[in-house]
Amino acid sequence: MSREVIAGVIRGARRSVEEAESKLAQAIGSKGEAQKVQFPETAFFLPMTAALLGQDVKTLADLKPVVAHCRELLPQEPTEHLWLPYLGDGLDAGIATLLALEATCAIRYVNGEPIEQGFTGFISDTILRELGIQLVDGRMPGFAAILGPAPSNAIAVKTVRELQKRSILTFLLCNRDGKSIRDQLVAEGVELGWDTYIVPVGRDTHSAIYVLNWAMRGALTFGGHKKGDWRNCLKYCRDRIFAFGITFGPIPDDWYAVGAGAIAMGFPVISDHPSTPEVRPTGVTTYEALVRQTDYEQLVPTCIQVRGVKVKVEAIDIPVSYSPAFEGERIRREDMHVQFGGKYSHAVELLESAALDQITDGEIIVRGKDLDTAQVGGAMDLGIHVRVAGRKMKADFEGILERQVHRYCNEAMGFMHTGQRDQIWCRISKAAVAAGFRLKHIGTILHAKVNNEYGGIVDKVAVAITTNGNEVAALAEHARPIYDARDERVAGMTDESVDTFYSCTLCQSFAPNHVCMITPERLGLCGAYNWLDGQAAYEINPNGCNQPVLKGRAVNAVTGEWEGVNKFVNQHSNGSVERFSAYSLMQNPMTSCGCFECIIAIVPEANGVMVVNREYAGDTPIGMPFSTLAGSVGGGAQTPGFLGVGRLYLSSRKFIAGEGGLPRLVWMPKELKEHMRERLQKRAADLKLEGFVDKIADETVATTSEQLLEHLAKVDHPALKMNSLL
Ligand code: SF4
Repeated sequence: MSREVIAGVIRGARRSVEEAESKLAQAIGSKGEAQKVQFPETAFFLPMTAALLGQDVKTLADLKPVVAHCRELLPQEPTEHLWLPYLGDGLDAGIATLLALEATCAIRYVNGEPIEQGFTGFISDTILRELGIQLVDGRMPGFAAILGPAPSNAIAVKTVRELQKRSILTFLLCNRDGKSIRDQLVAEGVELGWDTYIVPVGRDTHSAIYVLNWAMRGALTFGGHKKGDWRNCLKYCRDRIFAFGITFGPIPDDWYAVGAGAIAMGFPVISDHPSTPEVRPTGVTTYEALVRQTDYEQLVPTCIQVRGVKVKVEAIDIPVSYSPAFEGERIRREDMHVQFGGKYSHAVELLESAALDQITDGEIIVRGKDLDTAQVGGAMDLGIHVRVAGRKMKADFEGILERQVHRYCNEAMGFMHTGQRDQIWCRISKAAVAAGFRLKHIGTILHAKVNNEYGGIVDKVAVAITTNGNEVAALAEHARPIYDARDERVAGMTDESVDTFYSCTLCQSFAPNHVCMITPERLGLCGAYNWLDGQAAYEINPNGCNQPVLKGRAVNAVTGEWEGVNKFVNQHSNGSVERFSAYSLMQNPMTSCGCFECIIAIVPEANGVMVVNREYAGDTPIGMPFSTLAGSVGGGAQTPGFLGVGRLYLSSRKFIAGEGGLPRLVWMPKELKEHMRERLQKRAADLKLEGFVDKIADETVATTSEQLLEHLAKVDHPALKMNSLL
C-alpha cells in the first residue's frame, strides 16, 4: 500500500479504536459489565468478532478483550522518511477497525440509540438466509457498498441503475457534510429497499460494519467455517462473495480504515477521485485492491472487472422465443425474410480476444442495412465480429467460443445458422422480422450467452455486425490469417503421439446420433475444431460437448479403429454406431452431421474419390451437386462411400488411409484445389507422387464420368492402378 493510504488507514483505525474504548468505558460505567450485548435477530452475537476471534460476545465484559485486541493490532503510523512494507500493517489496522466499529455499534444498540428512518442498521439473519444464498450460489452476482454522496444526483442514479441492471445488490453508506447518496436517490424518486436491490444501511461510516459482518456470516453459514477460523473465513469471503466498495470524492481517514478492513476480506475499493493513490498488487484481493476510475461511464464496469464479478444475463431481451428447442429449426425459402452467406452472398463470423480496456461490455454496433429494409426473399452480406475480454481468456479459446455462435443463433426462433468462419449460411424467417427481430438482437444473444456460459473466462463481450459489403470483405480478410493460425497450431502433431482424442457432440441438436472424433490429424468435419481446440474446450468446461476419449487397443491402425473409441462412440451415438473408423470412407466411416466443409464421395468407375466443397454449386462427375449430396450424407448416419470432412483433412497423412489415401483423389472443384494446392503438393511430395495435384481433375476438364475417365487416362492418374475400391 502507498504510504499515503496506509497513513490514512492507521489514523482512521486509531480513531475507531479510541471511540470503541471510550464507548465501552462509558457503557460499563453506566450499565455494568454484566449488561447484555446483542444485535437484533442474529444467532451470531457480534458476527465479525465471532468469525475472526472465535469469541461469542454476550456482555459488555466480553467486549473488553476484543477492544484490547484492537489496540494491540494498531501499528505505528509510517513517518515521512521511513519506508517499510506496509501491507501487513494496513490489513491489521483494517481488521482493528472492523472489530472496533462492531463493538461501538453493538454498544449503540445497548444504549438504545435509534436507527435513522430510511436506513436498515444491522442486517438480520433472515435477510442473510434469503439473499445470502443467492450471493454464494451465483444467482446474485455480487454486492456493492457505495460510500458517500455522488458528485451529482444524475451520477448517483446512473451508478445504482448500472448495478441494478446487473442484479448487483447495492448498500448505501456514509455521508459527506451530512449528505448521503440515499438523499440524492430519494430526491430523484428512485425506489429504495430490498425489493429493488438498493438498500440504505446508515448515514455514517460505522454502518459499513453491518454490511461486512453480514457478508462474514456467509462464511460461517454457507461456507460452514468455524468461528475463530479467521483464515478460512476471510478466504471464503474473497473467493465466494463478490463484493466491492465504491467511494465518491476524496477518501477521508475513516473510509480508508474501513476500506482496509474490506480489502482484508478480499473486497476491493474503486474510487472516482483523482487524488486516490492506487494499490494494485493482488493476492489479498483476487485482483487489484484500490483502483481509481474517474470516468463515470466506466465506473461500474471497472468494479466488475476489478472484483471479477460474473454477471449473468438471465432473460435474453429479444422479441422472439429463445430456447434449445429451436436449435434444429429449418427455415424454408417461402418462410424466409432474408438470407446471408452460403452461395448467395458473403458472410463471415469471427471471435477474437481483446484487452480488458479495449472493449465495453454489452456494446452492440450495427452498420449497414437492417432486416426491415432488406429485400424480402433476397440475400445480404453479413459480418459478425465478436470481441471478448477476460483475465482468464486465452487466444487458444477463441475458436471454441466462436463455434458457439452457431448454437447461440440457432436457439432463437426464426433464425437458422449453419457453417462456420467465412462459410456461414443464415436465414431469418418472415415471422421473426415481423415480431421485431433486428440485427442488433444477434448481438444481444451473443453478449448474453457468451457471458452466461463462459463467464469463468470472459468478463466483457462486445459485438459489431455489418451488412456493408466492403466491411464484410474487410472482416473476412482480417479473419483468414487468424483461422489459418488456429489450424497451424496443431500441425506437426500425429495421431500416434497421443493416447487421447476428443469427441465433439455439439451438433447433436441437428443430428442426435452424430459424434465427431477429433484427432490431431483429423479435425472436426466443420473445420472449426481441431484436437487442441477439443483439449481447450474440455479445460473450460469439463462437462461440455468435448470429452477426452482414450483410444485404447488398436483394432485396425490403418483404418483408424480403436476399442476405446468404439466404446465411446457407441455410448454417445445412442447405440446407433457400433464400430467407428477414423480414416476410412468404406468401412464404418464417421457419421456426418450437416456442418461439413466438404463431402468425399466414391467414384467407382474411376476407382477413386471426388471431393466437393460447400461453396461449389456446379455439377460433379457423379451427377449430384453438393446440395443433393449433403441431403443424403448428413443427419448423423454412417454412409459408406460418402463422408463429410473438414477441408484440412484432405492434406492429412490420415486422409482415407483405409482406402490408400491421397492417390485416390481424382476430382475436386478448381477453387478448392487452388486453395489447398500448397498443402496437397506437400503431402504428394511426401508420397513421392510427382505432379499429382495437376492430375486431379476439376470442373474445367470434367463434369461427367466419361470426361473424368478420359482425363485420368490422359494424365496417368495413380488411382487407376490401385486395388479395387469395392
Ligand atoms: S461438426 Fe463436429 S466438430 Fe464441428 S461443431 Fe459439429 S460436432 Fe463439433
